[in-house]
Amino acid sequence: MKIICLSCGHKVDLGDAYDDYAGPVKCVACRAVLEIVTGTGNLRSLALPREVARGAPSAAADAPDA
Ligand SMILES: [Zn+2]
Repeated sequence: MKIICLSCGHKVDLGDAYDDYAGPVKCVACRAVLEIVTGTGNLRSLALPREVARGAPSAAADAPDA
């Protein structure tokens, strides 16, 4: 099972133990925690729950105090 880190784009090789798994995995490159769901060797879901991916498309990302 290999996934692409949503944070840094690194290809993370999780090995066969993750072919049927649901839960967090840590990117070895940037240490972001990805939430994955796999089944029978296929990736079903991949998310980056700790990253705030929503919001305004521009200019709102660096608000010092919200
Ligand atoms: Zn990463």
